[in-house]
Amino acid sequence: MTDHGLRTTDYGPKSLRLVLIGPPGAGKGTQAERLAKHFNIPRLTTGDLFRQAIRKETPLGRKVKGILDAGHLVPDEITIALMAERMEQKDCESGFILDGFPRTVGQAEGLKQWLEEKKLKLDSVLAVAISQEEAMARNTGRRQCSHCGAAHHLKFHPPRKEGLCDKCGGALMQRPDDREETVRERWRVYQQQTTPLIPFYQKQGLLQKVDGNRPPEKVFKAICSLIKG
Ligand code: AMP
Repeated sequence: MTDHGLRTTDYGPKSLRLVLIGPPGAGKGTQAERLAKHFNIPRLTTGDLFRQAIRKETPLGRKVKGILDAGHLVPDEITIALMAERMEQKDCESGFILDGFPRTVGQAEGLKQWLEEKKLKLDSVLAVAISQEEAMARNTGRRQCSHCGAAHHLKFHPPRKEGLCDKCGGALMQRPDDREETVRERWRVYQQQTTPLIPFYQKQGLLQKVDGNRPPEKVFKAICSLIKG
């Protein structure tokens, strides 16, 4: 470990601010989690923050529940405010991995403004690409424990006992937004609202493309070598 708390690597960045972009099912979450562990920086997952608010039935949760269930995007002002508050917390001093934010050009502008105010810069924006067919299979097979939240997959990580969590024995359920029709809608929303971020970040020289149609291990290695440059 170094004095700034980052894990020592062969290139030892002092801070690291990454954005992961990708359609539902691209494996963004898995990669963000691994990168967070590897670089010892927090992973900020907008979707998880919204789901947590829904579970706790906070005013924010009540406001966004219907939006998430339908696979639509939460309005930019709400999302930017939520993330600005999160990025200002102490654990983000050495950087962060943004997983699921920004998702619109409006949010990317909001993030840019926030970074400018703090005199910070992004190091890289990684766009993970995947075919629609593969994305559908990955998303619709996901099952989450209703008790502890552990992730399973009917095809890639089937539970030892059908319908029950391997970790705690809780009942497995499908997230409402992983139902086939909602995944299709989320895919459509991604194409329409989020893909404009690709030229947006390309123009700033920040965009790096990654092929996500490969096993997670390979995608992780590819990402690490891109960050390393
Ligand atoms: P995810 O788990 O990243 O697929 O996010 C689940 C849902 O949370 C999305 O379908 C949206 O309804 C909402 N959400 C997550 N991130 C954002 C964002 N950056 N902007 C607007 N809505 C979001």
